[in-house]
Amino acid sequence: MFTTALAQRGKTEQGDLPLDLFTAIETLKKELNAVILAHYYQEPDIQDIADFIGDSLQLAKAAAHTNADVIVFAGVHFMAETAKILNPDKMVLLPDLNAGCSLADSCPKEEFGAFKAAHPDHLVVSYINCSADIKAMSDIICTSSNAVKIVQQIPKNQPIIFAPDKNLGRYVMEKTGRDLVLWEGSCVVHETFSEKKIVQLKIAYPQAEAIAHPECETTVLRHASFIGSTAALLKYCEQSSSQEFIVATEPGIIHQMQKRAPHKRFIPAPPLNNCACNECPFMRLNTLEKLYWAMKNRAPEITLQEFIREAALRPIQRMLEMSA
Ligand code: SF4
Repeated sequence: MFTTALAQRGKTEQGDLPLDLFTAIETLKKELNAVILAHYYQEPDIQDIADFIGDSLQLAKAAAHTNADVIVFAGVHFMAETAKILNPDKMVLLPDLNAGCSLADSCPKEEFGAFKAAHPDHLVVSYINCSADIKAMSDIICTSSNAVKIVQQIPKNQPIIFAPDKNLGRYVMEKTGRDLVLWEGSCVVHETFSEKKIVQLKIAYPQAEAIAHPECETTVLRHASFIGSTAALLKYCEQSSSQEFIVATEPGIIHQMQKRAPHKRFIPAPPLNNCACNECPFMRLNTLEKLYWAMKNRAPEITLQEFIREAALRPIQRMLEMSA
């Protein structure tokens, strides 16, 4: 089950690591009454030790319902912030504070404040991949699972700003027929897939279905027979009669796809160059070792100013109500 981690133990800057890191983490989990939440894009060892694995929406819901005293969030900064927004009295730990997000960073609060002020009659729908500051400036939060459903519930005469992901925004426009004002943000990972290489793969594997996350560019989405959130892609692969898939999203999800459908073949969509840049560099900052140290040291901890937390909570609650 735990594939690579046991062979890699040793000394770190913070001290000696236990020989059996998995048992040590389980022991700390009991001591702290902690729950480990992990995103599908985390490395396989972290996915295997997590109490709950999910995409942004599933993790937000899990964070809202946990009885644990400590939430160890194996994901990126905005996700851990969301857990803190929903659980002000719980300690939220992020294994590496530098695990940010290029998409969240593409929407700085000052610029977005000016953009919003230029469209005073617009409702702001923001993708959950944004900072707590942007959430606090939003009316409704959405994820890639529920963005279409949420926009469809807003009266047709109500103008809408959609932020920060322009590709998801365009996908929502196409699905709903609504004219959204888009913030021009994007994710480095989902913009890296090469249309040319996907077409070459489709020729090499004629039986394979191409599937994609809506954060991908239109040039990639048009080759996909199924487009959906990370959780929807996972479910689709399990249920489809196809035996081969070209997967255009962060390849960390393939670990779960392979576990749920071991007899099927999953081919990661290639990036523009021969590099690992289709892997999220921020998600990959978290390691099992850092997760252990975070639990051992009760740090790094996510903290938020209360007025920001309260303002960011309202649009998240609206999302949870509208996507129930
Ligand atoms: S894959 Fe893209 S959107 Fe997701 S955390 Fe990484 S940079 Fe952000």
